[in-house]
Amino acid sequence: MSSDVERRSRRAGGRPISVSFEFFPPKTPEMEATLWSSITRLAPLAPKFVSVTYGAGGSTRERTHSTVERIVKETRLSPAAHLTCVSASKGEVDEVVRGYWDAGVRHIVALRGDPPGGVGQSYEPHSDGYKTSADLVSGIRRIANFEVSVSAYPEKHPESPSFDTDLDILAAKVEAGATRAITQCFFDNDLYFRYLDKARARGIEVPIVPGILPVSNFKQAKNFSEKTGTYMPGWLAARFEGLDNDPETRKLIAAAVAAEQVFDLVDRGVTEFHFYTLNRADLVYAVCHLLGLRPPQEAVAGQNGQAAA
Ligand code: FAD
Repeated sequence: MSSDVERRSRRAGGRPISVSFEFFPPKTPEMEATLWSSITRLAPLAPKFVSVTYGAGGSTRERTHSTVERIVKETRLSPAAHLTCVSASKGEVDEVVRGYWDAGVRHIVALRGDPPGGVGQSYEPHSDGYKTSADLVSGIRRIANFEVSVSAYPEKHPESPSFDTDLDILAAKVEAGATRAITQCFFDNDLYFRYLDKARARGIEVPIVPGILPVSNFKQAKNFSEKTGTYMPGWLAARFEGLDNDPETRKLIAAAVAAEQVFDLVDRGVTEFHFYTLNRADLVYAVCHLLGLRPPQEAVAGQNGQAAA
């Protein structure tokens, strides 16, 4: 599929741009329909992989699994299943990992997860579980030859006492076998590059792929940012000022803001992006289009045919 796709962006100076998309497992049949229409819309852009999150404390274990399994069975996409260590014994986690391998999944996004008591509480590992995300990465790699991605925090994790601790944790995850880090979303690109410099200086060489959250609901994004310690620049708030009751204009502004962010990253050498889709395709599709990604011609013809029918 990917060989048919024109993946070169004029802004990237001819370097190939690659993207991945993150989804969450749906709770209701309606949400499931929305998710699948988004996957169908984004699939022709030939993402490197699509990932499916794991609910806090493993609360979506079955739904994550069934979503990932359906991606394997019904699409030609490469799924990556998120997995955390929270509230589960090693045996339970290993069983999930083996289940993924047997289902044909070859990529896991390995995370420690939030404290079982909720964000802000101290993290207590399960007495018989993986103690850290690096432990989990080792465990997964021992079970089978999975590709393993992990998290990274350009503005440091809220629990972290210092950038150095954060970088030590990332280095341990890479040493345990992770081959890619995906960042928490950020809105100030300078913070991403500052982190990248620190990671490279620490000897961490794996790709640190920026996680991009196209913001269409500013209030929601602000709440999320407060919890995760993500800096919301004043100019971002200003862009959405006065638009609380105007979702259509908000959407246009959202596409413009996200495009501005990714083009600045491209201009500064970034060629790989992970999009937090929130299970919606339109904004991410528009930004990818601006990046130069195109579906193969037969997919376009199919979509036009559907539209005409
Ligand atoms: P780690 O990277 O292991 O650690 C995070 C920080 O905690 C460290 O940087 C450090 O500051 C501190 N820390 C951890 N261990 C130690 C230690 N031994 N000593 C000292 N300090 C330590 N959550 C979900 O529930 N489900 C998901 O699907 C999910 N997907 C995510 C995807 C991405 C790309 C990102 C960035 C986050 C995701 N999260 C998800 C959120 C994540 O679970 C939380 O941020 C969680 O609090 C930390 O998990 P982690 O694997 O990032 O932790």
